[in-house]
Amino acid sequence: MTRDPKTIIDSKSNADMFMDMAKELESNSEEQEPSIKTVRVNHQPKISDQGPTLGPKYLDALSVMTGLANIRSIEVELPILKCKVEVTPLTSEEEMVLKSASVSPSTFLEKLDEIIYEHTVFHDNRVKNYGEFLEELYPPDKSFLIWALLNSSYLILPTMEATCKKCSTKYIVDSTPEELLHSDTISELWPHAAPPRDYIETEILFDNNMTFTLGMPSELVRVKALNLMKASEINSNVEENNDTFSYIDNLVVLTREIRIIKQSGEEIVLRDLEQDIYPFLRNLQPKVIDVIRNQLNLDLFEEYMPNFYLDTNCTKCKTKNEIQLNPEIAFFRKALFI
Ligand SMILES: [Zn+2]
Repeated sequence: MTRDPKTIIDSKSNADMFMDMAKELESNSEEQEPSIKTVRVNHQPKISDQGPTLGPKYLDALSVMTGLANIRSIEVELPILKCKVEVTPLTSEEEMVLKSASVSPSTFLEKLDEIIYEHTVFHDNRVKNYGEFLEELYPPDKSFLIWALLNSSYLILPTMEATCKKCSTKYIVDSTPEELLHSDTISELWPHAAPPRDYIETEILFDNNMTFTLGMPSELVRVKALNLMKASEINSNVEENNDTFSYIDNLVVLTREIRIIKQSGEEIVLRDLEQDIYPFLRNLQPKVIDVIRNQLNLDLFEEYMPNFYLDTNCTKCKTKNEIQLNPEIAFFRKALFI
């Protein structure tokens, strides 16, 4: 998939944007307004033979508000699992859990995984438990699930600032989660019957003396790597790269195996992420990393990633500017900047 150069929003305005979202959420709870955007659809009282009045009053009240606010679950098709799922909205209680988990980025991201799992309805018993979910969840599907959670839970995105690519004017953008989705957002469907764990690419570096075997990382692998990282590293990655992982961290999660040939001809094979791959890659000298970075393409699976963006028009020269937003970072920042 080819992509046009996009207008980049800098970290500062991204941070501000999520500060605003946090403030909005806080003021909503202070004013004791009915939290109509965060009522969980599947908590509606079941209308049984005995009639709906037997349930606790609050459930009835939630059900009424769900109807009044036209709250719905969002259906998305996952490009890797190749199935349709429904995603139900966050509750305000879960929102608080995420906020308090944000003191540790890896805890927050793990909590978010749990919440995504609980809110995803697989129709065909495709994923049977949470462990299987983490093993079967790959970045493109996760991105769609987080977008669906964002869309079902919130009516509006926080106000943000964009910079025009033509005249550099800064202007304010108001939008909804739904506006992030376009006809070209949908990525390529995974073309194989077997899941990505069965597909690898091999890259040979340093005159055949180093071989990388790379594959798409499951969420389980990403969580393993996150647990090895310091909170401050994850935070600065988000600030600097708009990603929870740096280049090397991304290489860590993509790497299934590294083979290195010693001068004696003996081969060293690294396969264990925690014991070998992570400490090896993280302790390489900068010059070695530069060589790897120049030769190794980490965008191997880019065509499967959805492209969420906003179409905006410059208030001064009317130029159309696209603003890319990563739904995962959106959730992460929201909790980080409270
Ligand atoms: Zn302009």
